[in-house]
Amino acid sequence: MKTLGVKRGDRVATLAWNNYRHLEAYFAIPLLGAVLHTVNLRLSSEHLRYIINHAEDRILLVDEELLPLLDPIWDNLPTVQHLIILGEHLNLAKSPKNPMTSVSAYEDLLAQASPMVDYDPDLPEDSLLGMCYTSATTGNPKGVVYSHRGIALHSLAMGLANTSAIAENDTVMPVVPMFHVNAWGIPFSAIWFGANIVLPGPAPTPEDLVRLMSEEQVSVAAGVPTVWLGVAKVLEKAATPLSLRMVLCGGSAAPPALIRTFEKTFKVPLAHAYGMTETSPLATFSRLKSTLSGLTEDDQLAIRSTQGILVPGLSMRLRRDNEDVPWDGKSMGELWFKGPWVADEYYHDPRTEDSFEDGWLKTGDVATISPEGYVRLVDRTKDLVKSGGEWISSVDLENTIMAHPDVFEAAVVGVPHPKWDERPLAFVVPKENRQIRKEDIIALLSADFPKWWLPDDVIFLQEIPKTSVGKFMKRALRVQYQEYLTDPQR
Ligand code: ADP
Repeated sequence: MKTLGVKRGDRVATLAWNNYRHLEAYFAIPLLGAVLHTVNLRLSSEHLRYIINHAEDRILLVDEELLPLLDPIWDNLPTVQHLIILGEHLNLAKSPKNPMTSVSAYEDLLAQASPMVDYDPDLPEDSLLGMCYTSATTGNPKGVVYSHRGIALHSLAMGLANTSAIAENDTVMPVVPMFHVNAWGIPFSAIWFGANIVLPGPAPTPEDLVRLMSEEQVSVAAGVPTVWLGVAKVLEKAATPLSLRMVLCGGSAAPPALIRTFEKTFKVPLAHAYGMTETSPLATFSRLKSTLSGLTEDDQLAIRSTQGILVPGLSMRLRRDNEDVPWDGKSMGELWFKGPWVADEYYHDPRTEDSFEDGWLKTGDVATISPEGYVRLVDRTKDLVKSGGEWISSVDLENTIMAHPDVFEAAVVGVPHPKWDERPLAFVVPKENRQIRKEDIIALLSADFPKWWLPDDVIFLQEIPKTSVGKFMKRALRVQYQEYLTDPQR
């Protein structure tokens, strides 16, 4: 890349699965003083075009099989000067034909280059290391930039005994894509601490993950809850001996039933953590404090199912109507964070004004915090069901539905209602060959929630739609069912 003229501060983008060349790029780009821009390969062409142009990427490193993603936009990437195909040798027949851009194969370039010893030792610690775009509710994705200082401190935080404690004797497998918040920072910390790292490659199935975890004796694996729901399905069919000391689960709420299944049935501790692109992402981590070990098993599970306590190094507030909300486990407010690995702006974006105040990040997540400091996420502001002026937590309803032994996945969304503004609808995917009735779901919820929280209907689906990083895509359900309770024909 140095030969190609990459300089300090230049943006170099990757469009790649979790593989070893991508991992090499994770280090090569920042060590040059350039900025590692990991591009989400599941974005629409329009968003791909927007973010590559907005970041003004100079070089693209692209997995060979992902090249077709660029075909529709190739003529609209004016800042890109060079394409490096992450493969063995250049196959010009397959390469995009763009006269403005020179093309090389990664391994060809490596074979011609000599080992580099002169890194940029004077790089200031606040220089940019990387950037990642996060989805916005409406409009284009928003860019978040990471500094060397922030990522170094975040990597240390991932090694703390009371977080994921990644260490030299671990074999760590990030299932979370390397284009999703730097695979939660795992590549940086795992390599720094000398752990082994297992990269699952393109679109791994739950069967692939189980095989890899078993063959490679993975000790820590990290991914969103839907990944672990899929893995649980495989393990329930065929018990496989695993060496996991921890499944790290975050990105959306880990259902308590999932934590219980992993621990009781598979004997694997499932640790729940919370964060966002803007927090690099580690912000809170759920561990049971030693002083709480006398609680009943159910109470312990309830605490471990929360999003956890603040990771050392960050500051946290709970805010509502311009005031701090008490940490009493009941009062709800918006979570705010500040700290060395928390963004304080969006990259060249006027939307910065809506989400940051005095260096604090306003997350848009509604939570309670207990006197012990455990954060319990009630909902994303945009997912809360606002029924007759009151709030209903879609997450709480989902967690209870997913505790039903015949339920595989469930999502609850608010849809317009003529009288109450919004009412909840539940979407349920039964496990294979199981039958569930609407009445069973309502009876289950009635035991835990007041009548006005109960969904107006339960709709059975084959699958809950997922976002580009595997979270439930509630927006799609909201759009599809927006007239469900207002349609007089129904
Ligand atoms: P996207 O908006 O595309 O999902 P992020 O990965 O940055 O991008 O999403 C961060 C959001 O994900 C948080 O603001 C929060 O709403 C949700 N989230 C992350 N971790 C958890 C968790 N453990 N429990 C519940 N929600 C979570």
